[in-house]
Order: sequence, then C-alpha cells, then structure tokens
Amino acid sequence: MELNELFNSFQGEYPYTGRYSTFIRFNICNLECPFCDTMRESKLKMSTTNYDLNQISDLISKTNFITFTGGEPLLFVDEISEICNDVFFKNIYLEKITIETNGINMESALPQIIKNLYKSTPSVNNLLTIIWSPKFYNDEITIKEFNVLFDNYTIYDKIFIKIIADTDNKQIIESFIKKAIELYGINIRSKINLMFKTDEDLNFIQDSINFAIELGEKYSISISDRLHLRVNVK
Ligand code: SF4
Repeated sequence: MELNELFNSFQGEYPYTGRYSTFIRFNICNLECPFCDTMRESKLKMSTTNYDLNQISDLISKTNFITFTGGEPLLFVDEISEICNDVFFKNIYLEKITIETNGINMESALPQIIKNLYKSTPSVNNLLTIIWSPKFYNDEITIKEFNVLFDNYTIYDKIFIKIIADTDNKQIIESFIKKAIELYGINIRSKINLMFKTDEDLNFIQDSINFAIELGEKYSISISDRLHLRVNVK
C-alpha cells in the first residue's frame, strides 16, 4: 500500500494529546493550503513509500491506537477499511481509530467507512473518532462542510473540531464558534479546541496564543499547544 509515512509516536494534538499511536499518513490531498508543511512530489501528491499490511499491523499491535492523517485520509476509504479489517482479522486489540481530516468528503466517505468496518466489528461506532480541522482561509469550503456536519448527526456524534487560532482569520473563526453554539447549545464547546499556530516568528506565536485565550475565555473553549513540537518527537 502506498503511504506518505508510517510510524509510531506520541499524539501531539487535541483530543488525545500524549497518547502513543500508530500514524498512517496518506500521500494525496484535495487541497493546497498555503501553510502545508507535508513534503510533496507534485501539486497534490506527497512522497510515497510502499508498505504491506503486515508492517502496518505490526506497528499497530504496539500502540493499539491508529491515527489516519494526510494528505487527506477521507480520500482513502478503501485503504482505511482494508487496514482496519486486517487488524480486526488478526485479533489485535484496538482502543481507538482516529481520522484527521480537512472535512471535504466527510459526508460521503464517513458512512462508507462505518459500513465497511461494521462487517468486522459492530462496535465501530465507539472506536471511531473524527478530528476535523476546518481550513478557514477558504470560507466556501468551511461553510459547506460546516452545514454538512451539523445536518448529519452520524457525523456530529463522532467529531472533534480542532481550530488553529490563526489571527489572519479572526472573524470567520469567531463566527464559526458562535454559530456552532447557537445551533447545538453549550455542549458543543467540549468538542472544540483552539490550538496555537506554529511559526518561526515568536511574535506570531504570541498573537495566536493571545487570540486563543481571548476566544477561550469568551466562549469557554479549551486551548492547547502541540505537544510533539515541545518534546521534539515526530
Ligand atoms: S488539508 Fe492538510 S495536508 Fe492537505 S494541503 Fe491542507 S494542510 Fe496540507
């Protein structure tokens, strides 16, 4: 199977910060975010290495926790299903399957993944967590995906929303949070996290921290740093 990266490390970001996990990074994305730091071979494709299912399940057996990331994992419904079903078939204990997504494809891909995994394990609903990172630089995408999310309880039930406290998009981030609370009440706050931006310029980082604190205080939303960068692990 072609992947961008496969490795075990500590999860650095919300909502499972600190958890040891197997990271499975797919090699194609459907966006070209200006801040993307994934190594690319071409416009939308990242560098690629071939792994077989035994190499993947061997790593998973050491963590019992999967993080599918990218690229954009929801472009890889068949591969996600194949990897998870192989793990179930080998009777490897799994505590959690997380999928980190930019949100595009959520409506079509997620029900398909649930359907494919349900055949192997009816408890897939408890195993699966979606971590959506809306890309606020593109209002059109974010608003479309936002409506899909909140119109679809199957998705809403499994999702956490990770927002980078980007001071370039202050207005849209705040209106997103306000709309979420307006539509779903205050319980939605426990599913949202504001994460500090990374940058070489310390002033930018401080601005992001200040912005996260401001919104965190105003709407009672959690804020967090990226643990893997602080402890210097992949
Ligand atoms: S969605 Fe993620 S992987 Fe895709 S371009 Fe944006 S930052 Fe990069």
